[in-house]
Parts: sequence; structure tokens; C-alpha cells
Amino acid sequence: MKRVVLLGPPGVGKGTQAGLISKKYDLLHISTGDIFRANIKEGTPLGKTAAGYMEKGLLVPDELVCDLVEDCLTKDDCANGYLLDGFPRTVFQAKRLDEWLAGRGEELSVVLDIQASDELLMERATGRRVCKKCGSTFHVKNLPPKTEGICDNCGSELIQRADDKPETVRKRLQVYADQTSPLVEYYKGTGKLAEVDGIKNWPEVFEDICALLGE
Ligand code: AMP
Repeated sequence: MKRVVLLGPPGVGKGTQAGLISKKYDLLHISTGDIFRANIKEGTPLGKTAAGYMEKGLLVPDELVCDLVEDCLTKDDCANGYLLDGFPRTVFQAKRLDEWLAGRGEELSVVLDIQASDELLMERATGRRVCKKCGSTFHVKNLPPKTEGICDNCGSELIQRADDKPETVRKRLQVYADQTSPLVEYYKGTGKLAEVDGIKNWPEVFEDICALLGE
């Protein structure tokens, strides 16, 4: 059973790789960002709390995120393994996850750290467009839809996520550098870290990841 953590700054292609990995290895893809966005859409209390932080490009408080993830990990659909995407984001979250797993006699299999420069990440994130209805993702330069502003999949309007706006992306990169990059040091210390070059095209990045995860 694989328990994988996917690390990487906003716009590095984590979402794309997460989809490919979870399919190939039959792992449940747990994206805390997606869980928060779903809650915001449904107008739940969790969504209302999270939205206040997300709109400013800030992290949602640790305790709240940890409780949410631990709850997910105890569900049956995690039995075959899981891929954590966007969690942990801070050393606090990483330590609490390790302690929680240890309490169950478990440990992470590997932490994949996908890396790229801030300049490339700004371009990728600010060019991303998401379908309002089905959630399909496009990019104005790298993956343009057939008709500008319209989803290839379902014909609905494409929008820019509030947290993909330039000012917010800059802030998120700063938050990542400040709060999440110490995670890399933490995981180096636990011997779980595997570095992945995120500058390459996504199929090559996926190949590199498969080489690390094995068959
Ligand atoms: P993402 O889609 O993973 O980039 O997440 C979008 C936003 O959700 C982040 O900018 C944070 O505000 C919030 N978020 C997602 N995951 C976490 C986490 N593990 N800890 C704190 N905040 C999070």
C-alpha cells in the first residue's frame, strides 16, 4: 500500500501529476484545496471559514486542515493507498501527520517534491483557466481551449480562479517559500524525500515519478 505526499509550489503541475499517479497506482487523490473549494461551492461552515483565508492567498489554520485530512484517511476508500496533494503545507502539519500515522503503526511511502523556478510558476498559474461547470483545466498558452474562454469538454464558460490572479499567485509563492519549503528540510531528515524536476513536460515528469514509485 502506497502513502504518497506530493509537494510543490502553486502552478508546478501537481494537479496533473496527481491525476496520473492516482489512476496508474489506484490511489485515492486527496487534494485539500479541492475539498475547500467544494465546501465553498456548497456554502458549508468549513467553506466559509476557508474562503476568508484562501481569497487572501493565506493558509487555512493547521488544526482545521489536519482534522479534515485525518478524517479522510480513516475512510474505506483509502484502503488501497492515497496521494496527498496540497497537504501537508507546514512543518506542523507534516509532524502531526507522521505522529498520527505512527499511532496507527503506519508511515509515508515517499514524499515527491516537484520543483520549478518562480518565474515559470507565475506564468503557469496566471494563465490557468478552469471550467465553471465541470472543472476541466486549460492554459491560455500551454493548453488553450479550441474556442477562447469556452470549455472543450462541456461548452461552459472558463474562468480564472481567484487564487490564480497575479497578486494572489505572488503571495502564494511567498507563503510557499516561507511556510512550505521548510517541509523539504523536514522530509530530508526523515529520509522520505525524492526530488522531481518540474521544468520538463508533464509526460516526462510523470515518467520520472513512475521510476521513483516503481511498478
Ligand atoms: P491549492 O489548490 O492546493 O493550491 O489550495 C488552495 C488554497 O487552499 C491554499 O492557497 C490555501 O489557502 C488552502 N489550503 C489548501 N491546502 C491547505 C493546507 N494543507 N494547509 C493550509 N491551507 C491549505
